[in-house]
Amino acid sequence: MTILLDDPADAAALLRAGELVAFATETVYGLGADARNGRAVAGIFEAKGRPHFNPLICHFPDAEAAWAEVRPDERARKLAAAFWPGPLTLVLPRRADCRVDLLAGAGLDTLAVRVPGHPGALELLRLAGTPVAAPSANRSGRVSPTTTAHVLEELSGRIAAVLEGGDCEVGVESTVLDLAAGGAALLRPGGVPVEAIEAVIGPVGRALPISAAPEPTLRSPGLMLSHYAPSLPLRLDAVEVAPDEALLAFGSPLPGAAQVYQLSETRDLREAAARLFSGLRALDRPGLRGIAAMPIPGEGLGPAIRDRLDRAAAPRG
Ligand code: AMP
Ligand code: MG
Repeated sequence: MTILLDDPADAAALLRAGELVAFATETVYGLGADARNGRAVAGIFEAKGRPHFNPLICHFPDAEAAWAEVRPDERARKLAAAFWPGPLTLVLPRRADCRVDLLAGAGLDTLAVRVPGHPGALELLRLAGTPVAAPSANRSGRVSPTTTAHVLEELSGRIAAVLEGGDCEVGVESTVLDLAAGGAALLRPGGVPVEAIEAVIGPVGRALPISAAPEPTLRSPGLMLSHYAPSLPLRLDAVEVAPDEALLAFGSPLPGAAQVYQLSETRDLREAAARLFSGLRALDRPGLRGIAAMPIPGEGLGPAIRDRLDRAAAPRG
């Protein structure tokens, strides 16, 4: 049962308890989860039926709260002063002590952050007291919802609650600007025109959308990586494991691996999704021949997990 809430305090309590809550922003309705909680974040992908893990935008009540998780440079501070609260998302390097779960950022060293310009959203974020990861509150492949009725059509029964917030004003998504790699690159056009951004920080490169960008050849962390991939070779659907391989286990581990990271002993796909990026990082150690991943079933979050493993396993040039 999905309940309709009027009081942001009730919605904040649900978020803190690891539940999914849709809320209005000035752009579209977002499907929010406590970004520190990997299981809650995995629930977003499950509820949307997304077949892959892409990095989500984290929402904050003010710039200071955002700067606690990412490192702003001078340009980020200027843009925040000019456009926040508002429809501008900044991609910045994660701080070493960033509390946002790796799944919310799809394993990347960067994080997309925003302070939304909607009083109800800001109140919710203040009361929640945690970064809130939120993509648009629609099923995968459908249009973004701008009314409570749209959200319920899409997600009723799949999320705990919707915080009533009226109709969204902007109706288009936030502009996404990547400041993490030194330059300034437009990753998605949106509510703040690029010319307005250029008036504050100078020229902005028009990058390819992240999904269309070619696989980078430079693999240093943070250098415009469109997906996280370990540096060790990854072998999928392993049914046995060598003594110089690390094992990404799902269920009873195959015997004999040099090192084992358990995604989920009980074969719970939500737990496995929440642990996937930490697992790949933990096993990605020099001195081993590679990582063997046990088979992941094809239902629920399984295809999204498999998709990410496939990409990590694909040969890179
Ligand atoms: P959504 O949350 O569905 O509105 O979409 C978020 C947008 O921000 C997508 O276009 C993502 O690819 C992009 N994005 C989020 N985080 C990052 C990141 N760390 N690096 C690059 N792009 C990002
Ligand atoms: Mg969307």
